[in-house]
Amino acid sequence: MINQELINPKSIVVVGGSNKTSKPGGNCIRNILNGGYKGNIYVVNPKESEVQGLKSYNDIKDIPQTDLAIISIPAKTCLETITILAQEKGVKAFIMYTAGFGEETNEGGEMEKKIVEVINNAGASLIGPNCIGILNRYHHSLFTLPIPEMDPMGVDMVSSSGGTALFIMESSIRMGLRFNSVWSIGNAAQISVEDVLEYMDDNFNPETDSKIKLLYIESIKDPDKLLEHTSSLIHKGCRIAAIKSGTSESGSRAASSHTGAMANPDLAVEALFRKAGVVRCFSREELATVGAVFTLKELKGKNIAIVTHAGGPAVILTDALAKGGMEIPQLSGTSIADKLKKQLLPGSSVSNPIDIIGTGGPEHLAIAIDYCESKFTNIDGIAVIFGSPGLTRVYEAYEVLDQKMKSCSKPIFPVLPSVSTAWDETDFFVKKGHVNFSDEVGLADALIKVLKTPPPLPNNLELKRVSVPMIRRIIDNIPQSGYIAPQQVQELFKAAGIPIVEDLVSDNWEEICAFAEKAHYPIVAKVVGPVHKSDVGGVVVNIRSKEHLDFEFGRLMEIPGAEAVMIQPMLKGVELFAGAKYEEKFGHIVLCGLGGIFVEIFKDVASGLAPLATEEALSMIRSLKGYNVFKGARGQKGIDENQFAKIIVQLSALLRFATEIKELDINPLLATEQGIIAVDARVRIEK
Ligand code: ADP
Ligand code: MG
Repeated sequence: MINQELINPKSIVVVGGSNKTSKPGGNCIRNILNGGYKGNIYVVNPKESEVQGLKSYNDIKDIPQTDLAIISIPAKTCLETITILAQEKGVKAFIMYTAGFGEETNEGGEMEKKIVEVINNAGASLIGPNCIGILNRYHHSLFTLPIPEMDPMGVDMVSSSGGTALFIMESSIRMGLRFNSVWSIGNAAQISVEDVLEYMDDNFNPETDSKIKLLYIESIKDPDKLLEHTSSLIHKGCRIAAIKSGTSESGSRAASSHTGAMANPDLAVEALFRKAGVVRCFSREELATVGAVFTLKELKGKNIAIVTHAGGPAVILTDALAKGGMEIPQLSGTSIADKLKKQLLPGSSVSNPIDIIGTGGPEHLAIAIDYCESKFTNIDGIAVIFGSPGLTRVYEAYEVLDQKMKSCSKPIFPVLPSVSTAWDETDFFVKKGHVNFSDEVGLADALIKVLKTPPPLPNNLELKRVSVPMIRRIIDNIPQSGYIAPQQVQELFKAAGIPIVEDLVSDNWEEICAFAEKAHYPIVAKVVGPVHKSDVGGVVVNIRSKEHLDFEFGRLMEIPGAEAVMIQPMLKGVELFAGAKYEEKFGHIVLCGLGGIFVEIFKDVASGLAPLATEEALSMIRSLKGYNVFKGARGQKGIDENQFAKIIVQLSALLRFATEIKELDINPLLATEQGIIAVDARVRIEK
């Protein structure tokens, strides 16, 4: 529960406040004082009467009524102190730096619980324990350095880890990011990352609030809540990037389906972030770089002009942008380009990159940027690479860049690589309120990431096309947990509008034979019983005659576990994969990819969180490494991505009404000339 006493307290008491700034209780007082806090500050320290110029009380019982208490005393003494503060001193907000609670021992965990109970009973808020505190426009209650430059339109950062928050700030400050708030939530005994986002969302004021949020999350306690508030904030105009750490743990846990083996926590996070519209990052530098991109004007398309005075980095940037699907359109060969060339130094190039060469000065930089802004109409954004060879100072060039960034309508991305030779100039540029990308590839990767993250969709679900009564009847009629029979899979898919190949399941030779005649050879025969049929030699494709079928029928029926044989017409097409898995707390994660028996080896799958809209399914398909297969390659016809997307949407709708489904694999779906159709599916339910 976040309250005003935490955000903007009228008074703060630092319990364990110290003269020594080498101690958390000392450094936080210095930070609060330096931060220009306007309210009253009290200190409790049994050994001092004055701390950093402030009155120090020897006994907690003597302090006046106070809004916010910062707790920086040994863990064992916290409960008693907090009880007094909450019950007698009217304290309505606590920030606990103290560690040694649930993160360390079971006893610590018990103590933490008791503290939370006392605080909850008093209707107070709690940040921590085991955190570095919070920093906002009203008070700098962090015990660490650096304190970034504050700006109401700067970044809001929420971090599970105090140390990581610091290091993200280090990277960010170097890039020129300013901050509006920093929340280190520590053990999140009461307030979690989700709670902070909820608060920001519920109290969002588009006029006064910062719109950039950077998150470092160690555990997602409530995925639904995270999804709700991140997507809502993004709908309100915010831009959010996040690192979720600890997703590499193996997901296979004796999974019996392909989906089960592949749907690890990492894909669940990917699915959640995709749905929310959160840009997913993996490193601190990357998070800071994406944050820096967020501060600039929005890039509305993928056409970039590069203005440079050095060839190499411009080519590196071109490669990195092109690899991510962005365009660096050719600009030369037009009369406009010729005019530009005449105004630059001899030897300059006006293709793209526009190279004003090493001796090109501020005036050339200005002209090149002006052309990209208003004459080259096919350009959406401008990257400017400008360093210093150390011969002259580059203040003037950076002055030009500063002005152009303010006056141009297109976003300009400054790459100022001479962070040591031109440190003074770079610092001068950043102090004017700009960010700087010292590495062009870091910039390219961040731009691509931002551009490729789809915005969250409005909540209009596409659930109309499944037959809910039919789905329920089928599921309710299944007596027990486990893999459901092929016949039920057929019915379920029909009810959900997922095309599935016609088949016959039987242990009777006459029936099998008659179906094969009707379906026309060649046909496919499969053993029914074992879960992974190919692994036991239980799939025979391309059966062209009754004699061959007769032989295989006999053989398949003798495979251990065989109950019957399934016959299907033989189809031809590219193999696709779709699946779903129920993840605790997240709900159903839906996977799609290129299919076949190697799906688990290539692991080229994308994930989404059910229920999915068509747009989301399409964005999943387009994020596949093998996506080019859909466009047609090597003489093969393309695949109708819309139809595949529809199947994924239908599948996600099915899951919504059949929550008993815990694992589901459709592998493969064959993309035939007649359309995409499932030829193998398994569904495991838990009742
Ligand atoms: P399993 O996954 O249990 O091994 P499948 O039914 O997926 O069994 O069959 C294995 C492979 O056989 C498929 O990946 C596909 O290549 C091929 N196959 C299966 N059914 C058909 C069919 N009806 N038409 C064409 N190929 C098929
Ligand atoms: Mg299969």
